[in-house]
Amino acid sequence: MKVAVIGVGVLGACVGWNLSRLGAKVIFIDAGRPGEGVTNWSFSWVNASNKTARKPYFDLNVAGIAAYRELAGAIGPGSWWHPSGHLRWADDPAELLKTADLLAAWDYRFEVRTGAEVRRHLEPAVAIPDEIPVLFYPDEAWVHGRQLVGSLIRHAAASGAEHRFGTAVREIGANRNSRTVALSDGTHLDVDVVVNAAGPSASHIAGLISRRLPMRREPGVVTRLSGAQVPVHRAMHAPHIEIRPDGDASVVLHSREIDALIDTGEDPAELARRLHEQAQYVVPELSNSRIAQTRVVERPIPTDGFPSVGAVPSVPGYYEAVSHSGITLGPVIGRLLASEIVSGKRDELLADFRPERFGP
Ligand SMILES: Cc1cc2nc3c(=O)[nH]c(=O)nc-3n(C[C@H](O)[C@H](O)[C@H](O)COP(=O)(O)OP(=O)(O)OC[C@H]3O[C@@H](n4cnc5c(N)ncnc54)[C@H](O)[C@@H]3O)c2cc1C
Repeated sequence: MKVAVIGVGVLGACVGWNLSRLGAKVIFIDAGRPGEGVTNWSFSWVNASNKTARKPYFDLNVAGIAAYRELAGAIGPGSWWHPSGHLRWADDPAELLKTADLLAAWDYRFEVRTGAEVRRHLEPAVAIPDEIPVLFYPDEAWVHGRQLVGSLIRHAAASGAEHRFGTAVREIGANRNSRTVALSDGTHLDVDVVVNAAGPSASHIAGLISRRLPMRREPGVVTRLSGAQVPVHRAMHAPHIEIRPDGDASVVLHSREIDALIDTGEDPAELARRLHEQAQYVVPELSNSRIAQTRVVERPIPTDGFPSVGAVPSVPGYYEAVSHSGITLGPVIGRLLASEIVSGKRDELLADFRPERFGP
């Protein structure tokens, strides 16, 4: 079976790697460079504690965390995998503790620490009130998305996968038993299956086969700081700001509150300055770092906020892998979708997230 994976962010890389393990002949296609789309501009927090809106979605994210541990076992943990847990605290802890009650009822692991304990045992550089309750999620992690994508492509290539990078998919046609993918470099590929993993451009790719995949607009802004030293050891949600390490000399910042300013027309450089300012209230040592890069990106979110994963029965040979929380969900979606493509069997875990809910 020959499969064209369109888009090589975390979702395309996970689907393609799993397909190549199952013996499919994979061709990765990306208009740019692999892993440099949203995947490179994500807060990249692997979690289910923030996914309590619906139980099936929570369960899928729990499976996502488990799939990361399997993935690290299969390809080696490398510098992409950081299973250091997650810290979360808030100005008003009542809401947080209410969520904790729900998580406890769903058997999700967490510990309640005080600010003083966190400073003493986990994060000495964090300025946090002594008595404030802090939730520590020991099974959560952060991921270096670009490095993960690179590692998956190398492993898939060792099993015979090919790639076409720097060339965009322009058209998708159908012959009797196959699909033809036309690329912007003028070449054509004949394949049995196409996988739409084009992130924020997924509805455009769906349009090439006359399918409507409705997506909503929800931009986010992410800033990378560089500095001599990284004063934090894990990803954390502090009041008004999210902070995580991003390797040996870099820190990533994000905030939903600052995202809300994107559409006011505020200059991204000003948004980055505000992120840096908020971060310094929480980690004063970050005043020694400087803003290195800032990017405003679109989240790849179907209109109802949930993933669109699987076959579209009315379009033979076409599958979707489109999701927000794609960092958390990449490995589990990759495993389930690859198995569905090769065996034709649909997994119950994806029952609520099927593409056909948006119509044929
Ligand atoms: C600010 C922000 C914070 C986030 N935080 C988290 C988080 O903490 N945890 C979490 O789990 N998720 C988080 N997410 C979501 C997560 O980052 C995304 O769901 C995930 O990265 C999407 O990966 P992807 O592979 O679908 O898309 P991408 O990484 O964007 O990959 C899609 C690829 O398709 C390619 N492409 C597009 N059009 C074409 C074409 N015509 N032909 C060929 N190639 C094409 C692009 O070049 C790109 O490389 C966050 C997102 C944002 C924006």
